[in-house]
Amino acid sequence: MTAVRCIRCASAFDLEALPEDVHACSSCGTTSLPVRPEDDVTVVLNWQELRILGVWASNWAGQPLFPEDSRATLDAILKRLQAQHPDRTPLSLAAELKHLAAVTGSEVKLVHPSSGATTTFTPPKNKALPPTPTAEEEEPP
Ligand SMILES: [Zn+2]
Repeated sequence: MTAVRCIRCASAFDLEALPEDVHACSSCGTTSLPVRPEDDVTVVLNWQELRILGVWASNWAGQPLFPEDSRATLDAILKRLQAQHPDRTPLSLAAELKHLAAVTGSEVKLVHPSSGATTTFTPPKNKALPPTPTAEEEEPP
């Protein structure tokens, strides 16, 4: 038995139990290689360092040559990392701009420098805006 875990959906399965012609996770269908639980590690880094890695990885993953399956795997990894600290700044530029739209209640537009294409992030509908800080909570000028 070779216990592995899907890198995208985290389903655990026996690699040797898969039929020989199956090269995808039976739960989510990704063809990304599974990981071995014994390779799990704990690392120490600053959230800003992790955020830089997430923003750059997301930027590369957004390039046309990057396979959609790999993009979905990266998104799943970032989502698992973010879930460990949901109160922290989002780990991708797109998630941060989406958060900015929600906080400000305004549309946020991103013009992609390489293609000139525009992505618009709109605030969620029917959601209350976050509370406005009181004078005591505001940062000094
Ligand atoms: Zn999976």
